[in-house]
Amino acid sequence: MRTRAFIYCVAGAAAGLVYAVSAYLIVNRFGSDHEAIHIGVAPILAGAAAYVIGREADRINQQSGMLADAKKKFSALTHAAITQRDWNVSFEDPAIPTCWEVKGCGSENCPSYGKQHVRCWLVAGTFCRGEVQGRFAQKLGDCSKCEVYQVSTERDPINEIGENFNSLMWALREKEEMLSETNGKLQKQYGELELMHKQAREKADTDMLTGLRNHAHFQDHLHKEVEKAQALKQPLSLIMLDLDRFKSVNDEFGHQKGDEVLQVVGRLIRDEIGTSAYGARYGGEEFVIVMPSTTAKPAMEVADSLRRRMKAVEAEVNLPSGFVGGSFGVADIPRCASDADSLISASDAALLFAKRKGRDRVSYFRDLSDTELRSGDMDKLHSRLKGASLQTIRALAEAVDATDQYSECGQPQMARVAEAMAERLGMNQEQADALALAARLHDIGKVGVPSSILRKKEKLSPEELSLVQQHPAIGQRLLREVEQIQELIQAILYHHERWDGQGYPEKLKGEQIPVMARVIGIMDAYRAMLSDRPYRRTLSPAAALEELRKGAGSQFDPRLVKIFVELIGKDEAPELRHAV
Ligand code: GH3
Ligand code: MG
Ligand code: MG
Repeated sequence: MRTRAFIYCVAGAAAGLVYAVSAYLIVNRFGSDHEAIHIGVAPILAGAAAYVIGREADRINQQSGMLADAKKKFSALTHAAITQRDWNVSFEDPAIPTCWEVKGCGSENCPSYGKQHVRCWLVAGTFCRGEVQGRFAQKLGDCSKCEVYQVSTERDPINEIGENFNSLMWALREKEEMLSETNGKLQKQYGELELMHKQAREKADTDMLTGLRNHAHFQDHLHKEVEKAQALKQPLSLIMLDLDRFKSVNDEFGHQKGDEVLQVVGRLIRDEIGTSAYGARYGGEEFVIVMPSTTAKPAMEVADSLRRRMKAVEAEVNLPSGFVGGSFGVADIPRCASDADSLISASDAALLFAKRKGRDRVSYFRDLSDTELRSGDMDKLHSRLKGASLQTIRALAEAVDATDQYSECGQPQMARVAEAMAERLGMNQEQADALALAARLHDIGKVGVPSSILRKKEKLSPEELSLVQQHPAIGQRLLREVEQIQELIQAILYHHERWDGQGYPEKLKGEQIPVMARVIGIMDAYRAMLSDRPYRRTLSPAAALEELRKGAGSQFDPRLVKIFVELIGKDEAPELRHAV
């Protein structure tokens, strides 16, 4: 660049020389001392002027080149910083001294001590304020009076831009570090919170006494498992356990002893089921076990194994024998229920059966054999079945039917006959469905009649007969809150009324008796005649139909008997005849 100034200088000097020579020639011809001086000085002045102009032009040129270079460098650095989020970049020019160098920071008193490579005033810029400031953000003020800044930049605009760029990067870096530190703290706090939340959740889901899951968790779990089982069309069993006469443990040995028993039972349950099933404390001295992909039979085996293992609890907690035992109720999907609430109802009802069978045993919802439910138990059964679905009610009706002695004549066939009757009577679909359901459920109240009486071959005593005759009313009591059944409750209650008003329970007469009850009454009587009753030998279908005809007008509605006999007697419907 200096060459260009030199060329300007030479060119100026040459122009001056031409001017001088021409002036000399002119003076020689015309003669003048004054002009001779003029001739001598002029080229010098011209040369000097040209030199100054050239040098200035050179400097401007040089600076614009440096500016362009710096611009490129800044944009490359900025780009790198933004794209890589690395604010650790700085505009470094070896010509610019660092703070370290300017301040001679070899002592620990120097704020930039140990930071040789830090661009000077970024750290030492605080000097311009006369005090060391902790955060660089505060240093971003005007530090142009700072000694280090001045020495570093020498009032060169490019150096100033460079240093300002560096200060900006420094500030960003500090912010970034601050953010990542805060972020780290937040992450840690979040992790701690999550752990606390998990622990709180775990605590909220666990029964503190036994370490098993608690009631709320069980409800949630069962609903999910039932949904899963339904979707996969797989069975699922629910076992419900209630400790026998547990109150006497508390009464005789105190509640702490009672708690000890509950703890050991909880441990036994966990031990028995391992990880293949789920155990929870349902409440008080009641426990539940959910067994996915398991039908009732293997579930009952697990329950029975647990029942036997519970005998060892007494010795473990130092109780005399006879104080610890359990009754178990088992129900499964799909045979007893199709939803979680009904499954609970069914296993709870089965538990009641186990208690009534004499405790310390396992009962299945569909097995009522040896169950001695008395009419006083009906409110308990009713409250258990309150939320049960129709399917569970039907399963119970089938179980009741199976204990009855004319169970050979199956309920499904009764339902088919009912449908055919409904058609003949011109009933609409809804009424036909209700009649078919009534045909299945009308004897459900026999659940309240001891099975020993239902199965008795000999003639029943007046007391036993009176117990049997309570079954319509028991059925009505049991089902009074099952929503879908409301319109056939009357059919169940009155299916033993007689056309002549001599029936039970209310001695209704003729058309007072709801038509569905009259139809069910005829079907029920026909079915009973075909089966072996204590007081009468089995009749042939023809003889039974003849009996119905004889009873038309006294026991039965004559019009309905006529339709029924026609339907059953028809040659083209033999399967119905035998079915019923
Ligand atoms: P059953 O064979 O008919 O089931 O008789 P039971 O005595 O077991 O039944 P009942 O329902 O009359 O009594 C249950 C008892 O369980 C009463 C209650 O004090 C006791 N119980 C419930 N929860 C706890 C508990 O957490 N700790 C203790 N120690 N006793 C409890
Ligand atoms: Mg209980
Ligand atoms: Mg109990």
